[in-house]
This record gives sequence, structure tokens and C-alpha cells, in this order.
Amino acid sequence: MTIRIAEEWLAKCGGCEVTILDVGEAILDLLPKIEFVHMPVIMDHKYYGQTGERAEIEIPEADIGIIAGGIRNEEHREVAKIMREKCKIIIALGSCACFGGIPALGNMFKLDEIYDKVYRGTKSTEPGDAPSVDLPHLTDRVYAIDEEIKVDVYLPGCPTHYSHIAEALTALIEGKPFKLAERSVCDDCPLIREKKAVATIRRNLEPLDYDPTKLDKTRCLMEQGILCLGPVTRAGCGGPDKTPRCISVGIPCEGCFGPIRPGANPMVEMMGALSSIGLDPKQVLDRRATLQRFIGAHNRLRPLPTR
Ligand code: SF4
Ligand code: SF4
Ligand code: SF4
Repeated sequence: MTIRIAEEWLAKCGGCEVTILDVGEAILDLLPKIEFVHMPVIMDHKYYGQTGERAEIEIPEADIGIIAGGIRNEEHREVAKIMREKCKIIIALGSCACFGGIPALGNMFKLDEIYDKVYRGTKSTEPGDAPSVDLPHLTDRVYAIDEEIKVDVYLPGCPTHYSHIAEALTALIEGKPFKLAERSVCDDCPLIREKKAVATIRRNLEPLDYDPTKLDKTRCLMEQGILCLGPVTRAGCGGPDKTPRCISVGIPCEGCFGPIRPGANPMVEMMGALSSIGLDPKQVLDRRATLQRFIGAHNRLRPLPTR
């Protein structure tokens, strides 16, 4: 029996689709067992029929539905609901789908502020009205998929590691459960921790004239004064090799795999981690966004009352 797969992309960048296409040799084992019946990034399958003849969005029935991207407008919301109706299992692919991702940084602002900034507040833009004709209304904020529909499998990451896509599909095809490990990026990090305190902490690449070649490549970045979200971020981005993706190229973790466990609060945990080594979390510029860069849905990021 062939497993039918439907894939959709909502508020997002397209990088997660590249990860699907990047699965590599593992796809050779999967291909005889699966058939993609809907995938806008590579298939010309239009919502309202090839000539716009249908009155309602049409997505074919499938055994597995993969949704990348969160919900930023009413069309995304409707497509997510139709995917849930048409697909037996739903996978949330990537941090945009799992937690809102980068688009959910917009949740720190009211809709009017966003419209003003985009259509009237940038130097390169001729001021004008926000477009409103024939466009779906924006939702009041960016929502993660599971705020609208039930999600069965989460594959976080910006993007996730291609091996997780292959592993998840293989497990689901074989009727087995799939779950990512509940350990931190630090648990997989090969850099040496000497439990040495530092006096100051700053974000990567700040100030702009900072020279990364001066860092000791063998030592924990946090112990060299660079903010790293490894302690509060779920491991897995290194795939089978385990070495965290950013660490392997000498930059700190920014938290894209999200909380280690459902319900965890990485911002509070990270502030605790900084305080425990004698650092004032207030040193971190733009603290709310920096510590929750990829997880702004679920009401984690919202406009401050004073705005
Ligand atoms: S999770 Fe990252 S790579 Fe995937 S769609 Fe969102 S922004 Fe793009
Ligand atoms: S804080 Fe960052 S650099 Fe240090 S051990 Fe954890 S992941 Fe590695
Ligand atoms: S090191 Fe952190 S930010 Fe980088 S890919 Fe891994 S989880 Fe994402």
C-alpha cells in the first residue's frame, strides 16, 4: 500500500521544503512506499482548481499531512483546518509550524504598528494604504499550528534536520511512534566547560567590530562571554552526528529547536541559568526577543502594555 502525503506551507520562508528535498539517499528507501499527492512548492496543484473553477479550497485526502509555517492570515487558518480534515496524521514541520518561528517576532507589535512600519514607516517605501483587496485578512497575531488544530508529530528546527524527516516518515509508515530526544543542545556540545564565571555576556556579533577569530574554538562560548541558548534548547539539529549545527561552525545556539520539553519556559530558564553564574540577564539586549526568537506563538511574545 502506498502512503499518500500532502504538504502545505503557510507563514514561513520555504527553507523547510528545502529540507524535505534534502533528505538524500534515505528517500530512495521511502520512495517506493510514498506518494506526494499535494505539495505546492513542487506541484502545480491550485487551491481552487486549475482554472479557478472551484468555490472552495480543495486538498486531496492523505495518510500523512505535513504543515510547515504558522498561521498569519485567515487563509492559513482555513488551509490548516482542511489539512486536518483531509489527513489522518499531521506533522508540524519546522519551528514556524511548531512555535511560530521568526514570523512570530511580529507578535511583539500590534497589527496597526506592523502596517505602519511596512507601508508607511520605511525609507525605501512610498507611503500608502495597506493593500486590502482580494487578500486574506491578517490574524491578530501569528499562531503555531497546534493553537488551531491537533498536531500528532513535531519536527522543530529552523529548519529541522533532514534525518528527522526521514526517521519520522519511516516510523509513521511502519506504525511506530516518533519522538525527538528530550536533552539539551549542551548535552550534545563537544566544547569544554570549565565552570568558569564571566563578568559580562553579549549577543553573538555584538559589537559589530568584534572578531570571532579571537575566541577559543575548544571552549564553551558562554564561558567566553557569548550568549548561547544551548542550555535551554532541545538537541537534535546535528542529526546522527549529534554536534549541534551552529556550534560546529563556531557560532552560539540561538534556540531554533525550541524548548527541551513541552511546557518548558526557555526565557525564564535562561535567565535563571545566567543568574546562576552571576550574570545579570538585563545585560542581554532585546531580551524578550533574543531569548524567544523562534517561539513567539502560544502568547509568549505579545505587545508590551506601554506600546
Ligand atoms: S522553520 Fe525556519 S526554515 Fe522552516 S519555514 Fe520557518 S523560517 Fe523557514
Ligand atoms: S552553552 Fe553553548 S557553547 Fe556552551 S556547552 Fe552549551 S551549547 Fe556548547
Ligand atoms: S545550534 Fe541551536 S540555533 Fe543552531 S541549529 Fe542547533 S538548535 Fe538551532
